[in-house]
Amino acid sequence: MNTLSFLNSHKDSAWSIFVTQVERVLPHLGDLTFWASTLTRPKRALIVDIPLEMDDGSVRHFEGYRVQHNLSRGPGKGGVRFHPDVTLEEVMALSAWMTVKCAALNLPFGGAKGGIRVDPASLTKKELERLTRRYTSEIGLIIGPQQDIPAPDVGTNAQVMAWMMDTYSMNVGATTTGVVTGKPVHLGGSLGRVKATGRGVFVTGRKAAERLHIDVSQARIGVQGFGNVGSVAAQLFAQEGASIIAVQDHSATLVNEQGIDIAALIAWQQARGEIRGFAGAAEVDHDAFWTLRYDILIPAALEGQITASRAERLDCRLVLEGANGPTVPQADDILRERGITVLPDVICNAGGVTVSYFEWVQDFSSFYWSENEIYQKLDAIILSAFDYVWNKSLELGVSLRTAAYAIACERILIAREERGIYP
Ligand code: GLU
Repeated sequence: MNTLSFLNSHKDSAWSIFVTQVERVLPHLGDLTFWASTLTRPKRALIVDIPLEMDDGSVRHFEGYRVQHNLSRGPGKGGVRFHPDVTLEEVMALSAWMTVKCAALNLPFGGAKGGIRVDPASLTKKELERLTRRYTSEIGLIIGPQQDIPAPDVGTNAQVMAWMMDTYSMNVGATTTGVVTGKPVHLGGSLGRVKATGRGVFVTGRKAAERLHIDVSQARIGVQGFGNVGSVAAQLFAQEGASIIAVQDHSATLVNEQGIDIAALIAWQQARGEIRGFAGAAEVDHDAFWTLRYDILIPAALEGQITASRAERLDCRLVLEGANGPTVPQADDILRERGITVLPDVICNAGGVTVSYFEWVQDFSSFYWSENEIYQKLDAIILSAFDYVWNKSLELGVSLRTAAYAIACERILIAREERGIYP
C-alpha cells in the first residue's frame, strides 16, 4: 500500500506498524477497499515552532505537532504527548490509532494527536506553562470543541489541559471548556477520567482472561510503564487478588515473586517520579523483564516494545495493550502462532477516550454525572465493544486486532463513502 512520500519509515516505526495493520484488514473490507488508501495518509498535519523564554532569560525553540488523521466520523480526538522522542511520524501514527480506536468504540469522533519534542521534567513549572500556552495558541488554528479536542497523553496531565483550555478561551474571548478533555474536575473535567484508561485495561483484560480461563485472582502479572495507565491497571488487578510480580519504568525493573505491594509503589512513585529505589522488590536487569513467567503482560509505556525477538521468548498467555502500538506486526504473528492472545490497544486502552467523550458531552450540556454513572456507562460501552470484537475475531478467524480494525475501518470508510469527495 502507498505510504507517504516524505516519510523514510523503517520497518518497526510507529507509522509502518499502523500501515501494516491496515494492510492486514483489507481482505475483510469488501467493496470499501476502494476507499482504504484514505487511511494511509493523514488529512491534515501542522508543524509549529514554539519559542520559549527560559527562566534564566535565554530562548529555546521546540518543535510541536497536531495531526488530524481522519475526520469522517466527527471532530478530531486524541491526546498531546510531551516526550523527548516525539516526531511528526510518531504523532501521525498515534493520530491514526485514535481514528481506529474511536470508530472501534463507535464514539462520534475522528482521530487526531499532538505532541512536543521536549522532556517536560527538564522544565520548571513556569516554563512548562509558557510552552503549553504557546503551543496551544499555535495549534489554535485547527483545534476547537467542534473541530479537534486534545486530551492528556504521555507527559501531560490535567494541569496542562487547564492551561490549554485557558489559552484557547483567552484567544476566542469566551470560556470554552469543551476544547480539551482530561481537565481538572472543577474546570469542567469529568469524574473518573484520571483512572479511566487503567480501568478500561482492567475491565476488558478481566473479560479476556475469563474467556481464556485464566483465574485473575491467581494470575502473575508484569506491567511495563507505571504512569497513569500501568499503575491504575496494576492496582485494580492487585485488588482482584492477582500478583504483580514485575514492574518496569524508565528508571528500573522491579521484581517480587510474592507480588509487589502496589499501593506502596504508587506512593513511592508519586513522591519521586520513578520506581527506582523502592524497597519492596528486587531491582533486576532491564532485559530480565521480558524473560519472566507471567499469565498476563501489560505493556503500558510506549510503542514498539514487543519486538519479534521478545515475542519469541515471551512466557505469558495474554497481552493487554495499555500503551498505543506496543506490539510490532511481526511480533503479533509470532504471538498468535504461539497461542498468546493480544488484546489490542484500540479496545484495551479505549477507556480514556471513552470518558473523554463523556466529559465533552457533559461540558456541552453543563450537566455533570456521578462517578458511579461514569463507570457504569464506561463499562457498558467497552464491554460491548469487547464482545463485538471477540465474536468478529472468531467469525473471521483473525486476530483480535484485525477484527477490531475490520469493525472500525468499515465504520470509517462507510462514512467516507457516504460523505463523498468535495468538490
Ligand atoms: N491519550 C489517550 C489515548 O491515547 C486519550 C485520548 C483522549 O482522551 O482523547 O487514548
